[in-house]
Amino acid sequence: MQDKPYFCPNCRSNRVKFSVLSSYNQRFLKDAITGVVEEMAEPVEVQQTEPHIQCMVCQFVGNEMRFVKQAEREPRTVTVVSSVY
Ligand SMILES: [Zn+2]
Repeated sequence: MQDKPYFCPNCRSNRVKFSVLSSYNQRFLKDAITGVVEEMAEPVEVQQTEPHIQCMVCQFVGNEMRFVKQAEREPRTVTVVSSVY
């Protein structure tokens, strides 16, 4: 995951709450006749070049780049209270 701001391109109200979706690869052996699973290996995480991100506000799922790009298009404006007259 990149250390960049995210902004949900769907609801456009969330920059804070996200979830990363990862997939796992788990090998197993099956009995050819009964179909019973005989052996289950430990799950191995599949390395993804670009993780899938879910917005925890609207549940939208997209590639990480979509969230990063949206944040770049609409950066959060820092409101500075000016005391200069
Ligand atoms: Zn959203």
